[in-house]
Amino acid sequence: MLTLEDVGVRYGRTRALDGVSLTVSAAEFVCLIGANGAGKTTTLKAISGLVRAAAGRIVFDGREIQRLAPQEILRRGIAHCPEGRRVFPYMTVDENLQMGAYVRTDAADVARDRERVFAHFPILAERRRQPAGTLSGGEQAMLAVGRALINDPKIILIDEPSAGLAPSVVEDLLDVLLQVRSLGLTMLLVEQNIRFGLRLADSACLLQKGRIVYSGPTTDLDQDRLATYLGVGRLLSDDLSAGLGRQPAQQRSGKPRSR
Ligand code: ATP
Repeated sequence: MLTLEDVGVRYGRTRALDGVSLTVSAAEFVCLIGANGAGKTTTLKAISGLVRAAAGRIVFDGREIQRLAPQEILRRGIAHCPEGRRVFPYMTVDENLQMGAYVRTDAADVARDRERVFAHFPILAERRRQPAGTLSGGEQAMLAVGRALINDPKIILIDEPSAGLAPSVVEDLLDVLLQVRSLGLTMLLVEQNIRFGLRLADSACLLQKGRIVYSGPTTDLDQDRLATYLGVGRLLSDDLSAGLGRQPAQQRSGKPRSR
């Protein structure tokens, strides 16, 4: 569904991505893992058109998208949940969802998809007239996902959804994302919380200084390899191993939605 071929991104003299190639298949959940500054956020931004790829190709559903504007990329079915959730705090839940649908022109379609989001996240329906800034961190995370889903995307890019959330809320968020997966959606997820990412994903891509150093099923990753690639030695080995050796999430969820 989505392929990056030798993608390079620069910020002035900084080479943030250098020859990044990766593939995300339909209905697959892929987790992008790497140390701070490895280029994870930049990879998502390059896909959604927020930064320009200086080299390489990004192909989505058989077409090159690396020269398209962000709103056109969203129209084609790639929705991006940015780092830090970025809900509009003084707008209501309803208004935040409406803002997410800014590229859509048919009000009836938007209303239908908003009700679909509310059906998936009933807590958002209960709070639909409440300013988003008054929601809990977990509810804001749900709203950020809902704001992406309202576009009925084919793939959702999510940047560090668990950042800043309490451990119990992270568990709730995991359930939310597993629910998203049961809709048959495809996901490319960036996570610093490796345990969280590996519990959710079928495959992992490890980024190191702007280059992919591992790409494959999460079940083939071992803690030594992870620790080495992430440059954390064996210090965090227990933590790293927590999500390893699990069943891929695909086997735990429902059937993909046919599109
Ligand atoms: P983190 O986990 O800390 O968010 P990351 O893996 O997402 O890191 P990026 O944010 O993609 O990494 O950054 C990759 C590199 O590009 C880093 O060296 C960063 O300092 C640099 N960089 C990112 N954004 C900019 C920018 N707007 N201007 C200049 N350099 C940038």
